[in-house]
Amino acid sequence: MNRKALFTIKGTNASKGNVHRADFLDEIVPLMQDGVAMFDHACNSYTPHVGGVTLHFANQPDVDADVIIASDGINSRLRSHLYHRQGLPVESQMARYAEWVAWRGLIRTSAFLKAMGQSCDHKQMLLGTDRHIVHFPVRNGNVINIVGFVRDPEYLKLGEHTGPWAEKRPKAEMLRDFDGFTEDCLAMLSEIEEPSIWGIFTVPELETAIDDRIGLIGDASHAMTPHQGAGAGQAIEDALFLSALLCSPDVCKSNLAERNGKINQALKIYQQVRHRRSREVQKASREAGLLYEFRGVDGEGDDLGKIACNIEQRMRQVWEWDIKTELTEALESLH
Ligand SMILES: Cc1cc2nc3c(=O)[nH]c(=O)nc-3n(C[C@H](O)[C@H](O)[C@H](O)COP(=O)(O)OP(=O)(O)OC[C@H]3O[C@@H](n4cnc5c(N)ncnc54)[C@H](O)[C@@H]3O)c2cc1C
Repeated sequence: MNRKALFTIKGTNASKGNVHRADFLDEIVPLMQDGVAMFDHACNSYTPHVGGVTLHFANQPDVDADVIIASDGINSRLRSHLYHRQGLPVESQMARYAEWVAWRGLIRTSAFLKAMGQSCDHKQMLLGTDRHIVHFPVRNGNVINIVGFVRDPEYLKLGEHTGPWAEKRPKAEMLRDFDGFTEDCLAMLSEIEEPSIWGIFTVPELETAIDDRIGLIGDASHAMTPHQGAGAGQAIEDALFLSALLCSPDVCKSNLAERNGKINQALKIYQQVRHRRSREVQKASREAGLLYEFRGVDGEGDDLGKIACNIEQRMRQVWEWDIKTELTEALESLH
């Protein structure tokens, strides 16, 4: 069956590309100095002190640092510890179910071509009421990554699970969830040999994402629904922003007596500025999921013209954010 694109969204400054996480690590780690990237270190807690901050690991000796940038994901152990240290309710920072589950699987490009009758050289979405499918090429176009979202506010799929989880489930169950989609879509899904189902969870708005000489970035600070493909991008923006502040002469060249204060000042600025931005993207991302599934956020329903217009605007907010100005202002306030 030939399919026709309902609408196409292109970013003016956005390049096209998808990265398989394991491949990315294989490429980037050899570029770092020896000892910078260390694996098999499970950090549980930290202790700030006059000379810096000590990281405590479950399976390795302690390590001392000037500052901790915690990027330990949606179930961040350091976020729990931070809340515990500050006397904040630890349950309030735990990840929450976001009312979607996602079926995931990889198929060969040849299998995709056979099922869909056309190639897949960029990200595409197949829309339906309360369900949508995203597929895109990875590994130089040799493999197609498929993610099929199903909105499940009744927690029917989640069952007893109370935190982020994934498990293998029968293919027939996945196909039932996409009943009513076109035959070629179902043929594509059938090519997934061992589909797995994932609960989509997010991190609630935090009281704070910083403590004495530690800042949370990425999913640890603001895990969001994946509907705008923006979670990793937000983590990278956080990292860029915070590293620029911490590497600025105001912090780096300060003498030891002033250093801790300057680091904490940089962390406060990071929180003030980045918190607002990441919360907006988090909210927009959830709304995008509702738009794709004809639920609308402002009366769009299944009006494809209105949906396209709305999505285009919200993607520009993600792709064309002026981080340079954001950073310049932040660096000035550090003086
Ligand atoms: C289905 C789905 C699709 C997505 N699609 C996209 C997309 O297209 N584009 C996009 O930008 N984002 C996407 N995302 C979101 C993206 O995956 C995350 O936002 C991103 O991975 C966050 O990066 P992070 O470094 O903050 O956390 P993570 O990627 O979760 O990394 C955390 C790291 O910390 C390590 N760690 C955990 N605990 C400890 C500990 N105690 N001590 C030491 N290390 C620890 C983990 O092993 C892991 O390596 C998607 C998410 C999902 C669920």
